[in-house]
Amino acid sequence: MHAIDYLRADTLETAIETLRDDPSSAPLGGGTTLIDLMKCGVAQPSRLIDLTHLPGLNTIVASESALLVGALARMSDVQAHPEVQQRWPAVSEALLRGASQQLRNMATIGGNLMQRTRCGYFRDPTFSECNKRSPGSGCAALNGENRGHAVLGTSDHCIATYPGDLAVALVAFDAMVHILGPDGPRTVPIDDFFLLPGDTPEQEHPLSQGELITAVEVPASPAARRSRYLKVRDRVSYEFAAASAAVGLEIADDGTVADARVALGGVAAKPWREPAVEAALLGRPAVPELFREAAALAASGARPWQHNAYKVELARRTAARALMTLPL
Ligand code: SF4
Repeated sequence: MHAIDYLRADTLETAIETLRDDPSSAPLGGGTTLIDLMKCGVAQPSRLIDLTHLPGLNTIVASESALLVGALARMSDVQAHPEVQQRWPAVSEALLRGASQQLRNMATIGGNLMQRTRCGYFRDPTFSECNKRSPGSGCAALNGENRGHAVLGTSDHCIATYPGDLAVALVAFDAMVHILGPDGPRTVPIDDFFLLPGDTPEQEHPLSQGELITAVEVPASPAARRSRYLKVRDRVSYEFAAASAAVGLEIADDGTVADARVALGGVAAKPWREPAVEAALLGRPAVPELFREAAALAASGARPWQHNAYKVELARRTAARALMTLPL
């Protein structure tokens, strides 16, 4: 039996100080990731710092220039917000495609960004080889079952897939992560918030001890307004992506593409922006042939493993199909 202390934080400052002073403590939001990891023995915090009663962190504000979502806003509330559905539909759709309704009612936006990989070897401590769980121990997935693992952004130390949906849409639309810590506030572009495994796969985010996400900000843009999130998976509900794509287009008056956003999920070690696909779309007539041609450039440099080569073609087809479903 592993004893756990519990502290309900009344102020953000108290939470930050406690987390800074006690590296074995962990912040608790909706609990839909952390409690899972505690049950399977991967996370063993000595103290849970409950953030859910902190005031002012669950707001959803859509201004002319941006969407600002507090870290404690629930997935289901953000997904159902009328302004989010209308002006950032890919964000709303990505949230709707994640987890189950019960989980979305509990899970927070900050916690969603902190979710960890679904690699089975990571989540089962009876497997001794996992560099992410136990640095230096090896990677059981390299020569094991790796059908769901990543083909982009991997290293010889870890080939785990980033599992989330929301962050794929956030990466496509240049979101910013607002952070508060012992040294004050700072803002990190969402693409920099997710670290590639390299030779330190246990480090997934650039957060220092005591730092917490306070909000996520998504700029408004014509491409965000005309956007989609498409998720392809083994079953239609409550399943992680085999591949997904967040896409958005701004179309000029002459029918050509004035702005393009494409990001992939389910195939990479982090949410994966596709600048080559975006560049291929720009300035050309927005027609299905162009979408197929540009999407064929996705997943360039992919490094498939024994069981997951299918993801390369699946990623390209998912991006093309997502573009074709946009209202033009
Ligand atoms: Fe661990 Fe990463 Fe290898 Fe999975 S892929 S076993 S998380 S090191």
